[in-house]
Amino acid sequence: VVQTSFIGDAVLTTPLLEHLAREGGDGVDVIATRVTAPLLKTHPAVRRVITYDKRHGGAAEFLRVARAARGDRQAYLAQGSARSAALALAAGCRERIGFDTSDGRWLYTARIRFRDDWHHARRLVSLATAAAGTLDDAVIRPSLYPTRDDASAVDAILDGRDTSARPLVALAPGSVWHTKRWPGFGALAALLADEADFVIVGGAGDSAAAAQVAQHAARARVTNATGRLSLLGSAELIGRAALLVCNDSAPQHLASAMGTPTITVFGPTVPDFGFGPLAPGSRTAGEESLSCRPCDRHGPRECPLGHWRCMRDLAPSSVAALARTLLDRDIRA
Ligand code: SF4
Repeated sequence: VVQTSFIGDAVLTTPLLEHLAREGGDGVDVIATRVTAPLLKTHPAVRRVITYDKRHGGAAEFLRVARAARGDRQAYLAQGSARSAALALAAGCRERIGFDTSDGRWLYTARIRFRDDWHHARRLVSLATAAAGTLDDAVIRPSLYPTRDDASAVDAILDGRDTSARPLVALAPGSVWHTKRWPGFGALAALLADEADFVIVGGAGDSAAAAQVAQHAARARVTNATGRLSLLGSAELIGRAALLVCNDSAPQHLASAMGTPTITVFGPTVPDFGFGPLAPGSRTAGEESLSCRPCDRHGPRECPLGHWRCMRDLAPSSVAALARTLLDRDIRA
């Protein structure tokens, strides 16, 4: 399986890996980036992760990876570039299976219909089975396997806190795409200060967003964990929370894998693109009445209309009301 896209894409590929591992053999070989490889290395469906530095490695790296993948007869192109398809060809994969909309489709031996009305996890499974449309939601839910070290790192951050006595809500205010960052996380924490404690998850690059949340969180008890955990550590931390509130970004997929109910705030994008949260009980929030939504598949660099109302108009009180309904129910998977 070639999956050299973003973190969320790698997580959503795990149901495909599980399906392939169930079908036979002793596990799946995955070509992944240096960022996403550690997420997949502990997965029981994976036999081997071959890391591929596609940005900096050039031709020598391409040939190294192709050599490493020699012996695999089938390639599933979860990432659809012509380079990924060429890599599978160079590795000697006789069957190359990908989506009929991918840039590399002219190098495929089988082109699978890209169902834009399906969740992306289900789409990816459809690369391996024609029955993907009939599979139960639980089968297309991703999975991740944090290690004991990840658990210890989270223990240190939580510092003995009893999350069963008072709910812990994880907040993920970051996103690669600026227009997908809802500015209401701090106000949300302030509104829920009497009902829950909070932990902010994200990478080192999310520290400014975390500081902004803490600044607006008033008397809410907030722990900043950004930049302190690996990706699997972040998954472990999200797995300890009663609820995750996040943007349309990677943490929602970590939560889907860990079974943590999620509220995903959508602005310029929409759940119909196929990347919404999958943990049982999860909900989405967005300004449904805005006719300009969605305006970009990933989220534009800047609001093309200049007002950014899809995020500015989404009231923290409405997300807080949604959070209360989820916290009041015992919906943990
Ligand atoms: S055009 Fe609409 S959906 Fe797009 S960023 Fe602006 S407000 Fe949001």
